[in-house]
Amino acid sequence: MKIGSHVSFSDKGLLNAAQEAISYGATTFMVYTGAPQNTRRKPMEDQYVPEGLALMKEHGIEEIVVHAPYIINLASPKRDTFRLAVEFLQQEIERTAYMGVDNIVLHPGAFVDKDLEYGIGRIVEGLNEVLSVSGSVCIALETMAGKGTEIGRTFEELAEIIERAQHSERLRVCLDTCHAHDAGYDIIDGFDSVMEEFDRVIGLDRLAVIHINDSKNPRGARKDRHAPIGSGYIGFDAIYRIVHHEAAKDKPIILETPWIGKDPATQRPMYEAEIALLSDNAASRFGPGFLDDVARLRAFFEDELESPGRNGRRWVLATWEALKDKRQRGADKREPMERLYDLVVEKGLLPGLNEEQINMRLVGYFAGL
Ligand code: FE
Ligand code: FE
Ligand code: ZN
Repeated sequence: MKIGSHVSFSDKGLLNAAQEAISYGATTFMVYTGAPQNTRRKPMEDQYVPEGLALMKEHGIEEIVVHAPYIINLASPKRDTFRLAVEFLQQEIERTAYMGVDNIVLHPGAFVDKDLEYGIGRIVEGLNEVLSVSGSVCIALETMAGKGTEIGRTFEELAEIIERAQHSERLRVCLDTCHAHDAGYDIIDGFDSVMEEFDRVIGLDRLAVIHINDSKNPRGARKDRHAPIGSGYIGFDAIYRIVHHEAAKDKPIILETPWIGKDPATQRPMYEAEIALLSDNAASRFGPGFLDDVARLRAFFEDELESPGRNGRRWVLATWEALKDKRQRGADKREPMERLYDLVVEKGLLPGLNEEQINMRLVGYFAGL
């Protein structure tokens, strides 16, 4: 299995990205070639590419993925926005090729004040121009949650773009679990049929990348808010089945789960725990003490939570449901993980551990470790 997370291109570009990924125990990773929210980019010659590639090779990381910034919009009715997207993507293809990477993940776009047909036509027009420059880098269109006027909520929308575009041999798809769930696909109990549908509508040979995220919303909500694995509506077991599914075999599997912590300034990612738990190597990665801590949490929550369910599952879902009605004055607005963290600290259950360490053990509890 190739599994990793989004990591950032900081001062030393690809070298820092690879170091960060390795620190999480990743075997693949995904980068934005600069900030995800803007299109300013340093020249690739200053991004420590040979150094990054050498470190990746040393650690057996063969395949990584690039993600285009999420602000570019190929479906935009505005000329300037559309031109920026086309020109940025042409340069992004060069940067991607420079690193020897095959796939760029792209959010297809949003049609704003036009309609779906207009948006799809615009994306096709944009992709035709982008891919008119020959090369081998592919663009992987991401399945979207369908919030606002986002295109790519259904497999049919992505299939239409691919069928109508020239150079469709360079178009692929990235399946995002949070987005597919929010879009309405039953990836929890029906992942086999969802993949059959994907195969029928798009073709499984187009599947290039898988993004794994839990979701803060119920199926079909069209919201797109990611949660750490096991802490949301999808749950650890469903994500575990997906990453070990035949369709995911040998594909880069990328976490884009939020960083966790009460103070935004010191939040930490759960990637290392999520990767270890999904690859069944938490014991060797974290040592027997980690398992003991999770066992203590389990025994504690069994007594402390009203009806926790298996691995806290029932309690987590009930808490999200209760959170839906946030208008209630004085209502507890804390999300499930934060409530459990507060409880553990209040009762002094895991003394000597910091916030990140406690949160990683909570992820272990959700995973049924
Ligand atoms: Fe994305
Ligand atoms: Fe994604
Ligand atoms: Zn998302």
